[in-house]
Amino acid sequence: MKKNDEFELLIHDMTDQGEGIGKQDGFTWFVKDAVIGDRIRARAMKLKKNYGYARLMEVLEPSACRVPERCPVARQCGGCQLQMMSYPEQLRFKERKVWSNLRRIGGLDGLRLPGAESAKQEKCQNAGKNDGEINTDSASVEMEPIIGMENPWRYRNKAQFPFGYGRDGKVKTGFYAGRTHSIIENDDCYLGTEENKAVLKAVKDVMEERGIEPYQEEIHAGLVRHVLIRKGFSTGQLMVCFVINGDKLPYEEEFVERLLRIPGMTSISFNVNRERTNVIMGRRTVHLYGPGYIEDKIGDVSYQISPLSFYQVNPVQTERLYNTALEFAGLDGTEIVWDLYCGIGTISLFLARRAKWVYGVEIVPEAIEDARRNASLNGIENATFFTGKAEEVLPRRYEEYSERADVIVVDPPRKGCDEACLETIVRMEPDRVVYVSCDSATLARDVKYLTANGYQVSRVRCCDMFPMSGHVETVCLLSNRKPDSYVHLNLKMEDYYRI
Ligand code: SAH
Repeated sequence: MKKNDEFELLIHDMTDQGEGIGKQDGFTWFVKDAVIGDRIRARAMKLKKNYGYARLMEVLEPSACRVPERCPVARQCGGCQLQMMSYPEQLRFKERKVWSNLRRIGGLDGLRLPGAESAKQEKCQNAGKNDGEINTDSASVEMEPIIGMENPWRYRNKAQFPFGYGRDGKVKTGFYAGRTHSIIENDDCYLGTEENKAVLKAVKDVMEERGIEPYQEEIHAGLVRHVLIRKGFSTGQLMVCFVINGDKLPYEEEFVERLLRIPGMTSISFNVNRERTNVIMGRRTVHLYGPGYIEDKIGDVSYQISPLSFYQVNPVQTERLYNTALEFAGLDGTEIVWDLYCGIGTISLFLARRAKWVYGVEIVPEAIEDARRNASLNGIENATFFTGKAEEVLPRRYEEYSERADVIVVDPPRKGCDEACLETIVRMEPDRVVYVSCDSATLARDVKYLTANGYQVSRVRCCDMFPMSGHVETVCLLSNRKPDSYVHLNLKMEDYYRI
């Protein structure tokens, strides 16, 4: 086989990034845009020793889970890796990914996929014997069904649109094509809110009428780099923030007047970013209209969100994710809880109303300021927030102040927890560790450490925060194996949200 050779391939699996995987004569091929179950004609593009990348030329026999792409630029854009897979199949794919990482990397041999027990019983009844495929020892745990969305579109409350010139010399906006900086024109992404289109039109109209230039990265010239749009789903409030390569937004009254015609417009600002950088936002924000923030609610906790604040992008699923974490935490009001990697304190505040005291730890100082402000906004007085690295703050508080924990919640970035953090967790001997993870490979690695040090996995549940993408969140409950830490988890989520 050499470059540009064409061949037939059956796709039997997919990578975390949503590329199809096919095998041929012991050689593994990765094919973008191919779906599990497709039989395709592929063209060899890049060959390595025992794997290669191929281009999808034609779908010869479509997979049963293949659906037409809804978005006209789905293949170029790169934001939705799974759009051509039916939504129920996306959910199965994500569950399998987490399951296989927890078994393979985490060593959880007894972990079963949701519904595995009933499937097994049926199979046994039919076959009249146990085929021994499924481990039923005491350490065996069945994953709970993934929490999917009823409507997996228009779920994002935030979008950052880059601006540039089109070939026709007009101002254009859209998304960066996968891993590049060329703009694919699109002002109505189906993952974003309906209002984005009206906001972008208002901005483009004023820019064209007044000759305001979009930023041109190659020559570091022009003004408007990005427009950030956020919506509070529960309040309907809208925020627009221009990111500009300058200290002033010309014709600001005109921009404000146009944008205020859009119902819900609450906050308009600009952010100064004059650097040659990939980072979208600069540090300084100037408010042109409104209070400088919008408000939103998750469950019954209110949050003020300013342009620079971190805030989860899928509020519907965030509430379900946090409810799962809360349920796994099994609080009865007497517990000391630590929430490590707490961001703006969203999980901490959720837990505080059911706990005796919550301690949040987060590395970004501005996020801790938001967390404290949000605590007082909600009248929550039993939460303390520390700025610093979890792996430094937790050991220090434990050693110098003999601080203790009944429950520890962690929600680390993709790289997972630092070992010094895990080591202190083990020394503090909380009854339960609730691990919220956005990367099941590092979750599995950390679970392996905790299970080797006195904990056992008792519940696992995935939550689909990013439909159409390959990402998935997982909540995992680890219980201390010491005999007196057994608890009845009597808090139950009413709904299973199962699709
Ligand atoms: N629990 C929050 C945020 C989770 S994102 C929420 O649900 O909204 C992970 C957070 O960990 C980010 O806010 C990031 O700034 C923070 N972080 C990254 N490394 C850290 C470290 N070593 N110690 C503490 N916080 C860290």
